[in-house]
Amino acid sequence: MTDTSTSQAPIIVVGAGIVGTATARALQREGHAVTLVDSGEPGKATSYGNAGFIAIDHLLPLARPSTLKRVPKMLMDRDGPLTLHRPSIPWLLPWMARFALAAYSAAEVKKGVDSFGVLMAEANIAWKAEIQASGLGELFRSKGALYVYETEQSFADGAEERDLQKAKGTAFEIVDGARARELAPGLSDHIVRGVYYPDGMHTINPYRVVATLAERFAADGGTILRARVRGFGRDGNTVTSVKTTDSELPAKAVVIAAGRASGDLARLLGFNAPLVAERGYHVMLAPDNVRFDLPVSPAGRGFFVTPMEEGLRVAGTVELAAPHQPPSWHRADLLVKHLKDIFPGVGGAELGRWIGERPTLPDFRPAIGRAPRLANVYCGYGHQHVGLTLATATGRLIARQMEGEDMPEALKACDPGRFG
Ligand SMILES: Cc1cc2nc3c(=O)[nH]c(=O)nc-3n(C[C@H](O)[C@H](O)[C@H](O)COP(=O)(O)OP(=O)(O)OC[C@H]3O[C@@H](n4cnc5c(N)ncnc54)[C@H](O)[C@@H]3O)c2cc1C
Repeated sequence: MTDTSTSQAPIIVVGAGIVGTATARALQREGHAVTLVDSGEPGKATSYGNAGFIAIDHLLPLARPSTLKRVPKMLMDRDGPLTLHRPSIPWLLPWMARFALAAYSAAEVKKGVDSFGVLMAEANIAWKAEIQASGLGELFRSKGALYVYETEQSFADGAEERDLQKAKGTAFEIVDGARARELAPGLSDHIVRGVYYPDGMHTINPYRVVATLAERFAADGGTILRARVRGFGRDGNTVTSVKTTDSELPAKAVVIAAGRASGDLARLLGFNAPLVAERGYHVMLAPDNVRFDLPVSPAGRGFFVTPMEEGLRVAGTVELAAPHQPPSWHRADLLVKHLKDIFPGVGGAELGRWIGERPTLPDFRPAIGRAPRLANVYCGYGHQHVGLTLATATGRLIARQMEGEDMPEALKACDPGRFG
């Protein structure tokens, strides 16, 4: 039941990362009054330091048998793309068990593939529209993207994803090492192959994308509030207010888009969001004489190197950890070491390093849509490695569901209620 005060209240979006900010923008466009609440400045959490790649080629969910098979080998290599924060292992075990079950289930993998097909198609349309609508053009480059391979075996390992991309109509070109070095001058001579995605797009500053969206949101009448959300007022299955550390805000509807912390808010609302932080790092290097203009990712090493407005950003790898653990900065040193294996001439001074927490559910599908058992709470979290890519699509899907449209059939696999 909604009383007059809440029916005239704004929709409250909790979390001003890329997902919450893009969602606030989409809801505003539908004519809603929207308040965006964040305990910090918009875009300063995980959305600050990602690799900036709009990864619409990412069609295979990471929860699949081939990932699972590689996990033991990856974990034995302390310098490798995946590691566990050791003191967090007991906390991580239930999540890891769920991940293994999802990765081994053919039905779950199919749900992942089907949902990613729909999400990436929507992302492609949604980003182009948002760039236009919010005047973000100067922050994006359409220069393609390049995956590079150090052995014929690693190239062969990518066949599963390429087959799917071919089936879905993703454009790509398989190139030899020499052509890869033309596309990204400075690449090591030992690179044997590349796969070039001509439609790839990246941002030269992910933080400024969120900040600009937030500015446009405010300029178009949206409210941005700096406050930590710590509870909700309820009337049966309807949330009527959002309680922050210093006030209680009446709410017509609520969107939970608080990244990794969404699990805590879901618990307060009586449902489960078993998120872990897949921590990743970045190092920014000052421009030097190694120059290329598209994101490059060496297969199997788990990172991207992206040309950004301040220099080169090397970003990625995964460290699974419980919340609030101290950073493992040697992971950032490793990124630079790996980068120099791939681009031996890179020598720019380090400008800064960063850690971010990818919000990840055990089946590696995001949670998008109405929360279980609640009439007016919506979810947009769990976007793991592709939150920048999927943010605008998430916003549009939530906005449409609020208008009464059903989620596309394939996206029922992203229902927030699937964890109970
Ligand atoms: C190294 C690395 C590289 C990556 N590269 C890419 C890439 O190239 N392409 C891509 O698509 N994705 C990439 N990602 C993933 C992407 O960055 C994330 O999926 C995305 O940023 C998640 O956005 P979010 O809005 O869900 O979370 P966040 O950006 O973390 O935002 C959540 C917000 O919620 C706020 N919040 C939390 N709790 C509360 C509360 N109780 N009250 C008020 N506010 C609260 C936080 O302050 C924060 O601002 C990468 C990630 C990493 C770590």
